[in-house]
Amino acid sequence: MEKELSAFNSQLSTVSERRSETWREELRKSKKNKERADIARVHMPELDPTYRSRVRNEEVNLGLTTEQALLEAQRCLDCANPTCMQGCPVNINIPTFIKYIEKGQFLDAAKTLKETSALPAVCGRVCPQEKQCEAQCIHLKMKKEPVAIGYLERFAADYERESGNISIPEVAAPNGVKIAVVGSGPAGLSFAGDMAKLGYDVTVFEALHEIGGVLKYGIPEFRLPNTIVDVEIDILRKMGVKFLNNCIVGKTISYEDLHTDGFKGIFVASGAGLPNFMNIPGENLVGVMSSNEYLTRVNLMDAANPESDTPVWIGKNVAVIGGGNTAMDSVRTARRLGADRAMIIYRRSEEEMPARVEEVKHAKEEGIEFMTLHNPVEYIGDEFGRVRQMRLQKMELGEPDASGRRRPVPVEGAIETIDVDEVIVSVGVSPNPLVPSAFKGLQVSKWGTIIVDQETMRSDLPDVYAGGDIVRGGATVILAMGDGRKAAAAMDNSLRG
Ligand code: FAD
Ligand code: SF4
Repeated sequence: MEKELSAFNSQLSTVSERRSETWREELRKSKKNKERADIARVHMPELDPTYRSRVRNEEVNLGLTTEQALLEAQRCLDCANPTCMQGCPVNINIPTFIKYIEKGQFLDAAKTLKETSALPAVCGRVCPQEKQCEAQCIHLKMKKEPVAIGYLERFAADYERESGNISIPEVAAPNGVKIAVVGSGPAGLSFAGDMAKLGYDVTVFEALHEIGGVLKYGIPEFRLPNTIVDVEIDILRKMGVKFLNNCIVGKTISYEDLHTDGFKGIFVASGAGLPNFMNIPGENLVGVMSSNEYLTRVNLMDAANPESDTPVWIGKNVAVIGGGNTAMDSVRTARRLGADRAMIIYRRSEEEMPARVEEVKHAKEEGIEFMTLHNPVEYIGDEFGRVRQMRLQKMELGEPDASGRRRPVPVEGAIETIDVDEVIVSVGVSPNPLVPSAFKGLQVSKWGTIIVDQETMRSDLPDVYAGGDIVRGGATVILAMGDGRKAAAAMDNSLRG
């Protein structure tokens, strides 16, 4: 599959210059590697924490200035064997786009990003680069901080958008083959982009009224403004991708309908939108809800506005259960909506938290309290059935479990009770069972994820491929996008025989 993906990349590539180009060689010679490595990593400018914790929609990270980007780009050594690329699931030509930035050709940098990524401005903001490309940067071997690849990606994508010179990737002549995509999150969008470039007639079916999946209904505006997601979706539209919202595949339209309508391939990217609960007493009290419900209502249904049809309760003592990105987004949202005390309740220690390090840092700066090694055992309500208190079991870390993280074990008899008026449960998600049950013959794991061939993302049904959270359970934007790319390469291969 590695070989196929690389052949697929060169098929899609239009601007990526080779490392042997004269300008690249001259740029490399213009500064010694040691000098480059000695430049300190740039810091992302941010909004003041006191101010930002009281305004809902202003983005926290402000983006690099041109001077910062030019300097950071000089840190990249333009390695002959760029290990960073191995850490990028969508195979961005990292050194090329960075060297374009160093040369001041920001629009070419953006074009290079778009050769293999449908969502560079999104990924530059929310991708966990510290665990992906940046974790493989050669600087780490020299005990230096990695090149800020994510910040530079955001810089190039933002520069292009703000300049108004938005390039539309080239698409092949239409081949008339109809392809359906179920779900418009990052997996579906990435797949749609690659298939459109190859000339396919792609339609994305989306159950919600908004296109974008978790990028719109989950991740709040202060991390990822909707307008930025919309610009990247609009590029896909201009490449010929059609979007049909308010259409639930498996209900509004069936698998058989898709065949009748002439779709020759289907990519299922329906995500994992079913929230998990802990099944403890009091979870049904008013004021206890899942983070999915909380964030979707605030982000997509204007529920923070008391005049809206279904406003959310504006809690003053808000507890968010969990330690992932979703928990951080929920607790920071609650703080912005007016919580005096906004707490993370997490049963392990901070070291085991799955949330991005940057999100934890930002949350702390905004006054979020971290009650680690605590686990809720009961919610207590008042006579009106509204949550008023919660009982917390203190925990300690024991031996590592199957995930390799140390298992949290209760400290006997150590229970405390705290006052709360809103609880947001953020303890993981499961795949929505609708598509797996509506597509007869689809093999599903015991967790409800669709089983696919890991190389091709093809399911047991020969015309159905799947990727993203519906295959992985809750994962990340970039892994979902990588699946979309793999599936597009394999489906194209199969359709062309
Ligand atoms: P989704 O983004 O979930 O999209 C699936 C889409 O399919 C949805 O729009 C859904 O409405 C639609 N759909 C479902 N069923 C049907 C159907 N039957 N018919 C039609 N449409 C259907 N990852 C990161 O990398 N960085 C982060 O900072 C980060 N933060 C996160 C914050 C939150 C609050 C959440 C919830 C997740 C976060 N993640 C983050 C995880 C990341 O967003 C997901 O892993 C990623 O969005 C999965 O992409 P997907 O395309 O598989 O699914
Ligand atoms: Fe540049 Fe680091 Fe990638 Fe080397 S590994 S090409 S230094 S970003």
